[in-house]
Amino acid sequence: MSETLIPVFDGHNDTLLRLVMAEMKGEPISFFDGHDSLHIDLPKAHQGALAGGLFAMFVPPKQEPGQELKFEDMQRPIDQEHALDFTMAMAACAYRLERESKGAVTICRSTSDIKAAMEKGSIALMLHIEGAEAIDKDFNALEVLYGAGLRSIGPVWSRDNIFAHGVPFDFPGTPDHGPGLTDLGKEFVKHCNDMGIVIDMSHLNEAGFWDIQKLSKHPLVATHSNVHVLSQTPRNLTDKQLDAIAESKGVVGLNYAVGFLREDGEKYNADTTLETMLIHFDYLLDKLGEEGVALGSDFDGATVPQTIGSAAGNPLLLKAMAEHGYGQELIEKIAYKNWLSLLERTGI
Ligand SMILES: [Zn+2]
Repeated sequence: MSETLIPVFDGHNDTLLRLVMAEMKGEPISFFDGHDSLHIDLPKAHQGALAGGLFAMFVPPKQEPGQELKFEDMQRPIDQEHALDFTMAMAACAYRLERESKGAVTICRSTSDIKAAMEKGSIALMLHIEGAEAIDKDFNALEVLYGAGLRSIGPVWSRDNIFAHGVPFDFPGTPDHGPGLTDLGKEFVKHCNDMGIVIDMSHLNEAGFWDIQKLSKHPLVATHSNVHVLSQTPRNLTDKQLDAIAESKGVVGLNYAVGFLREDGEKYNADTTLETMLIHFDYLLDKLGEEGVALGSDFDGATVPQTIGSAAGNPLLLKAMAEHGYGQELIEKIAYKNWLSLLERTGI
């Protein structure tokens, strides 16, 4: 007899990027049949009770055929035309998934859409942009993408654009790196607030963070970031930032990327324990309270602890929480309820 698993709504994954890149290389992989190289595919989602999540649309730099991307290339600014083209490819990939899924995947535009999809056992896919290069200075693309279902957007990935400045990945390092939002970045906050789009502060530098903290009317959000005191990467949140997120009744999704969990910052060491994750959870819960902590796996975008391995491994993380003394109610909040409530409070 199989016990009922707690569903998971995940604040961040890069699965669409994996699917689109494989397609572009001429070596397509199937989300529905599953593939060893994917952290999230339909079989693994079903196995681990992945109910849905924010599916990121991230734009890598333009590549010549056969050119391998180096990590340094990733952090160079990219132009809007290329970014919009690539974002279209990723949104189209999501739409194709929904159409071909025969009901197994549903693109969701609201919290009630997510709840309805969860009821049916259909994966709730909400579109997110990681790095707003696709958005023009007149915000026309933002309107159209909103129409297509975009409900969450990080103004920057770890590179600069017309709106804001991203953090580097050097370890150890702090998020205090570069200036705040540009004037267009401040307009960006207003548009997102007015339309009901989550502004994701993962990857944003500290000056930009404080600008948004002053300007935004919504709860503050970092979809996939951890605790800076415990792992001193610029991608993690300082105590002051966590306090500001708590004050706004915001949410942080714990990132499974080992480089943002580990004290030594090693990016590719999958031999990272669940205890390491629980130490971050304890810290986040202490700072943010039971309504402020959620999941933001970074599946398909980073090396994750081998014990979890993929979306099929989420139940092991939730089991470790139970063994650590978290009650059922708290585990459900972390697993999905806090994201749903945050989206609702953002007007979604
Ligand atoms: Zn990211």
